[in-house]
Amino acid sequence: MTRADPFAPRLPSPLQEVGDNRFARHGLRLLLKRDDLIHPELIGNKWRKLVPNVEAAGGRALVTFGGAYSNHLRATAAAGRLLGVPTTGVVRGQELAGRPLNPSLSRCAADGMRLHFVERSVYRRKTEPETLAAILRAAGAEGAYVVPEGGSNAAAVRGCRALGEELRGHTDVVAVACGTGGTLAGLAAGLAPEQRALGIAVLKGGFLTADIQALQERAFGARSGTWTVDDRFHLGGYARTTPALDAFAADFGQRHGLPVERLYVAKLLHGLVALAEEGAFARGTTVAAVVTGRPFP
Ligand SMILES: *Cc1c(COP(=O)(O)O)cnc(C)c1O
Repeated sequence: MTRADPFAPRLPSPLQEVGDNRFARHGLRLLLKRDDLIHPELIGNKWRKLVPNVEAAGGRALVTFGGAYSNHLRATAAAGRLLGVPTTGVVRGQELAGRPLNPSLSRCAADGMRLHFVERSVYRRKTEPETLAAILRAAGAEGAYVVPEGGSNAAAVRGCRALGEELRGHTDVVAVACGTGGTLAGLAAGLAPEQRALGIAVLKGGFLTADIQALQERAFGARSGTWTVDDRFHLGGYARTTPALDAFAADFGQRHGLPVERLYVAKLLHGLVALAEEGAFARGTTVAAVVTGRPFP
């Protein structure tokens, strides 16, 4: 890659130790793995997940799926602009069509993404082959390379293995917030045998362990690495928050000088503080938290 390459990432991403008494008083070290600094416009785990897909697409247009505030849709739109690949975003909610775009969808459109709104009942069935074909036809995206909602397919999971590899020899535990779990699936496979990965679910449902195992089987042929998921810190579901979580995120950001993304990263850090308090980590343990993104806008 040359310096002028608009895609040139900052890899490995920086790893920073932070002094935080909520960990230190339990004999723990806290590191931040700054994947939010990989690329100014294609941030964090989205860079790791999308780049292998853009390569697999071999110049074809990309089509993907998301809700009205999806980080994944914005990242796909940014990837399309940076690489000159046309993108289509299939958005959940026909009722959004014809209304002014929210800031997240405006950003997608400004990056050149064509937006196609579908009814929620249709959106739910988008992985059925006939429904998918009908959606692509209606969106004018036949022949495009399909990236699933949330971006987690085998290529994406394999792309996240490098995140684990970058952390070899630096930490005992790596913690990451999980949406689809694709990042955890890849990261865990890249770690050394004595390291373990911990996922903090931000969605309610309890389905993640099975999903992550299935993603690893598709990407690597088998379950790989040592990992678990903790389902106790989603606060009721995706994008659900509390004044306490908002205060926690603002305070953490101020203490350590980084903007804390609220949908994923705040729940991860909040969960880690609770786990440290519970004594979930033995004294002397080093814990690395992956900062997978930054706040939007
Ligand atoms: C998309 C996203 C995640 C979730 O990644 P998965 O691979 O779906 O688990 C985590 N953090 C941030 C900031 C994200 O944008």
